[in-house]
Amino acid sequence: ERNENQERLLTLINASPDIICFKDGEGKWLLANDADLELFNLKGVDYLGKDDLELAEFTAPIFKESFKYCKKSDELAWNKGDILRNEEIITTVNNVRKIYDILKAPVYNEDGTRKGLVVLGRDVTENKENEKKLVDAKEEAEKANRLKSEFLANMSHEIRTPMNAIIGFSDILSERIKDKTLKSFVNKIEISGNNLLRLIEDILDISKIEAGHIEIIKQSTDVKKMSVDIQKMFIIKAEKKDLNFKLVYNDNLPEFLFIDAFRIKQILINLIDNALKFTEKGSVEVVFSAENIKKNLLDFSIKIKDTGIGIAIEEKDLIFENFRQSENRMSGEYAGTGLGLAISKHLSELMNGKISVKSELGIGSEFTVVFKDVQIINQDNNLIKPNISNVYGIKKLKILIAEDILINRQLILALLENQEFIITEAVNGKEVLDILEKELPDLILMDIQMPILDGYEATKIIKKDERFKHIPVIALTAHAIKDVVARYHTIFDDYLTKPVSRDDILNSISKFVSDK
Ligand code: ADP
Repeated sequence: ERNENQERLLTLINASPDIICFKDGEGKWLLANDADLELFNLKGVDYLGKDDLELAEFTAPIFKESFKYCKKSDELAWNKGDILRNEEIITTVNNVRKIYDILKAPVYNEDGTRKGLVVLGRDVTENKENEKKLVDAKEEAEKANRLKSEFLANMSHEIRTPMNAIIGFSDILSERIKDKTLKSFVNKIEISGNNLLRLIEDILDISKIEAGHIEIIKQSTDVKKMSVDIQKMFIIKAEKKDLNFKLVYNDNLPEFLFIDAFRIKQILINLIDNALKFTEKGSVEVVFSAENIKKNLLDFSIKIKDTGIGIAIEEKDLIFENFRQSENRMSGEYAGTGLGLAISKHLSELMNGKISVKSELGIGSEFTVVFKDVQIINQDNNLIKPNISNVYGIKKLKILIAEDILINRQLILALLENQEFIITEAVNGKEVLDILEKELPDLILMDIQMPILDGYEATKIIKKDERFKHIPVIALTAHAIKDVVARYHTIFDDYLTKPVSRDDILNSISKFVSDK
């Protein structure tokens, strides 16, 4: 009876593809299954009562290291006094490398002395290889994604430069052309140009978000001013559709908050743009308010309410996904990429914020963004003041334009026309420095990417030179990437992102001009 049971047990352990071995308290082998004997090429060897080092003599030299290691790790298990689990690499005949997941369980006699050690091992070589393949594939994918973002960033730069000319010159042309039909053609070019630019920016943003490349740059921000800026952007659009566009600024909001105004604006522009787009009658209302006000923290809430076509319940989550647009909207009627909400959602989350939506079909929608725990800035310790460093009369201002591309120079000249500015031109940073040696301008408009000496390096030199450092330098950049632009903050007095409009340039210049 007993022998039969032993037979069964032996058959059982021999059937196991895992290695099984029982050693006594001194490390001598008492029982090993076929898998174990096969692995170490010990089939047919009388292993009984031999320890690892002795057994190493009976098999191929290649196993010597494994046996040595095995003995050491047995000791670790004994020292631990509990199950020890680790991975061992075993090099077998023909130099095949195998990885084993080994488990060693010490068994003690009642009096605490060593009774024996159970050793179990499973071949995990294939799992490990698959794991590694997965890690490699992930790294590969991340690398590809990084390259994609870089490619898009570069493309965006390359596209912005010609777009700058297209949009800028159509702006100028549409002012000059009197013929109605021609004027409408030029306007179409400008509108399409702007749409294309918006599309490029959206695609760039979403790919940057996905690659984790968006940086949140918080600054002390005049919230009321920010809301007025936004209002200005949409007034005309709302008027054109005869919509009542209202902006409500709740009194419980402090004047200054520590936020990334650029990114918050970006979210609001998307949401308000949608509200106006999907509303034909009635109103769009934007409400700024504070919730959960604490000593120096609050939740900053912005609501955008419209009386438009609304969103079906089943689509409320879908619309926040990339490229998703509601079924309800008739295709073609409203242009769009379906990226705006996805971008807004990601951006909000990066700023500890949340977007939610309430809506009823045919009645309207209400989007709410809440940024949690926003820091309140006391005006007394608000150090960021506008940088008006110089006193000039705006008339007869001497402006130096540095820009290597002729068409862009011509555009800036056209934009500055009728202003009585005295303009000098340079085609690279070195020319700028040469000109400064001869005559000082009141202000410099500096392109960044130029041959020989780029605008960034040239400005660094200017700002280090006692003779020149008072001259305001306004950067002109085709970088849509605001994170790059933020770096310019440290060195330039102001920066403009191409395509620049006449208003952009004049606004920026006027910052450095007194009203006297
Ligand atoms: P886009 O506006 O470019 O299509 P968005 O991601 O901004 O992309 O919006 C996705 C979709 O969500 C829209 O196409 C529209 O169907 C729906 N949507 C967004 N805002 C509103 C709104 N205020 N009213 C009705 N539908 C909206």
